[in-house]
Amino acid sequence: MSFIEISKKNYFHNLDILCDKLGSKERLAVVLKDNAYGHGLVLMAKLSSEYGITKAIVRTSDEAKQIESYFKSIIVLVPNSNEENNPKHHFVINDISQIKNLPKGAKVHLKIDTGMHRSGILSKSLEEAYKLIKENDLVLEAVMTHFRSADELSSELFWQQKNWKDVKENVLKLTLKYNFKQPLFHSANSATLLRVSNYQDDFVRCGIATFGYHQMPSCYEMPKLKPILSLWAEKITTRDLKAGQRVGYGGAFTAQKDMKVSTYDIGYGDGFFRYKNENMFLGKVSMDSCVIEGDAQKVCILDDASEIANHFNTISYDVLVKLSPMIDRVIVR
Ligand SMILES: *Cc1c(COP(=O)(O)O)cnc(C)c1O
Repeated sequence: MSFIEISKKNYFHNLDILCDKLGSKERLAVVLKDNAYGHGLVLMAKLSSEYGITKAIVRTSDEAKQIESYFKSIIVLVPNSNEENNPKHHFVINDISQIKNLPKGAKVHLKIDTGMHRSGILSKSLEEAYKLIKENDLVLEAVMTHFRSADELSSELFWQQKNWKDVKENVLKLTLKYNFKQPLFHSANSATLLRVSNYQDDFVRCGIATFGYHQMPSCYEMPKLKPILSLWAEKITTRDLKAGQRVGYGGAFTAQKDMKVSTYDIGYGDGFFRYKNENMFLGKVSMDSCVIEGDAQKVCILDDASEIANHFNTISYDVLVKLSPMIDRVIVR
């Protein structure tokens, strides 16, 4: 059976780098949405909690429930319209109309659109949101935003940070006016944290960097993060090919010499890519298998997602997140 190994050593190495930069473990919230970017939701929750992380971020309450025992609080990025109150769940408000649908007493994080124009309320609607939060008896735990260009070589991040600063000043005024407790602020993803030298807000939301990747242009000096996931396949069968024999669909590979080849139990049905890369695979990757030279019992199919990501002109997130949740995941030292 194919399997995924998660290196605890590399994970803790990455968390050390990020927490050093922040000055404390309390300031790092780990983003575990989408099966922890393919790494395994519960397994990554366990490991990060063992390290001392107290906040996690997921997409839905269903995900939050699965990891509830590991954290003090869990932020749900995309709440639905019939959420139940849960003292550990914090709901992100992505749109002003959502406020009236959240259960009384719920803890909320108000998201502000500071220039990404994807989700969050407009800064001019801040006071209206405060009124609605009060009317609906919600608890405003935090105000947040998201930066769109932290991993690009441009000054856009600084323009958006200026907008964010204005929002925060406004929040402080409204907090006094409406007699709310002072909300926390959070804005940075991995790229922002890696890029800026003095992050001011209360905590960061880190996903990809914890898993050992960044997408920063090479001109930025980056700490040495280590990928933590490796994907392994096991042998199904071995055969001897004669020179001239062809392998797989369309006979896409032709043996130039007599050779031993084996079939392994990973394919595009496992969320791997259907691709032709003769450094590794002989012929095309099939749905449930691929053919590789030799007869090793198991082979490592992937231990650095950025190589495949570059090949397909996409990003490491895209490669990792697609790995099937059905593959067994195990922690190794
Ligand atoms: C996914 C997500 C993050 C994490 O981004 P990384 O680039 O993986 O660090 C942070 N904030 C929000 C709102 C997100 O949706």
